[in-house]
Amino acid sequence: MSVPAVQKAAIVQSTGAKLQIHDNFPVKQASELAPGECLVKLVCTGVCHTDLHAAKGDWPIEAKTPLIGGHEGVGHIVAIGAHTQDSPVQLGDRVGIKWLAYSCLDCEYCRQGLEQVCPKGKYSGFTVDGTFSQYVVSWVSHVTPIPENLDSFEAASILCAGITVYRAIKYSKAKIGDWIALPGAGGGLGHLAVQYAAAMGLRVVAIDTGAEKRDLALKLGAEKWVDFRESKDLVADIKAATGGAGPNVAVVTATNSAAYEQAIDYLRPGGTLMMVGLPGQGKLAADIFFTVIKAINILGSYVGNRQDAREALEIAARGKVKCYYAVKPIGALEETYEGLEKGTVVGRIVLDMQQ
Ligand SMILES: [Zn+2]
Ligand SMILES: [Zn+2]
Repeated sequence: MSVPAVQKAAIVQSTGAKLQIHDNFPVKQASELAPGECLVKLVCTGVCHTDLHAAKGDWPIEAKTPLIGGHEGVGHIVAIGAHTQDSPVQLGDRVGIKWLAYSCLDCEYCRQGLEQVCPKGKYSGFTVDGTFSQYVVSWVSHVTPIPENLDSFEAASILCAGITVYRAIKYSKAKIGDWIALPGAGGGLGHLAVQYAAAMGLRVVAIDTGAEKRDLALKLGAEKWVDFRESKDLVADIKAATGGAGPNVAVVTATNSAAYEQAIDYLRPGGTLMMVGLPGQGKLAADIFFTVIKAINILGSYVGNRQDAREALEIAARGKVKCYYAVKPIGALEETYEGLEKGTVVGRIVLDMQQ
């Protein structure tokens, strides 16, 4: 397969610098790939809030610079490093690039399926260049095969947003028939969470604001809707929506601490707060007394491992979860960041990388 010498790429030169679109960024050639590495020619890539955090440097850990962000890419393998042993993927395969680009597969965490926290982990669009370029280098052991009947643009956002919420719900202790509260239900992660929750037999209380997000959440399977801007008493309204006792589980993807603290208040006794959002700063100021006497569980979930990725994609391929997205060219990345910052992006933005 022929690989060009240069490509389009969106580059952040230094932390907080303005994004630049280059037309002649060098493509790593097949001969330059190390064993275990592969080169993927992208069809498309989703844009995640994490990319914005990485570009702005507003997390306690810093991204590499210059940085090519992006970690929701779908494309075809066009080269595999020489001397790669037992590759699970082959030339021409359609694969996904997710946040966790590489892990050692041998440490205690990797062996237990918690490869996201591998000390040798590499992260797409953060510690290694990501998918905001037409070609991306990844690892044969970690790229995710895309099910045949799932469209590439549909698959893109499942690779981060989908996996993240799927795993969070899967490990939240929620069981069929339980109420689940989903703050941010109309956003990128939230609208996928609504569908995974519904597919898993949970009853969804969607929390967000505005008619567009309300309509989307209800259409996707939410049973109740609470508008946090219109509500005079959010905790009371969420409890009332579930018949008074409060939800069994809250999966919180917000980047402000208030949404986490409120969950402790509206969860029913024995309920579980699953924390998923990654605010740069923010503390959980839960009341210890009431957390204890309500027997509340507080858990955290971080993206997902290779198995979670395959399960999340499989559910989408079966039509149970559909990403609501708009397609834009790579040149629209800057305005997408602005929309994410203002909270005006409904669903997800996917960049067409073939243009
Ligand atoms: Zn992401
Ligand atoms: Zn490891």
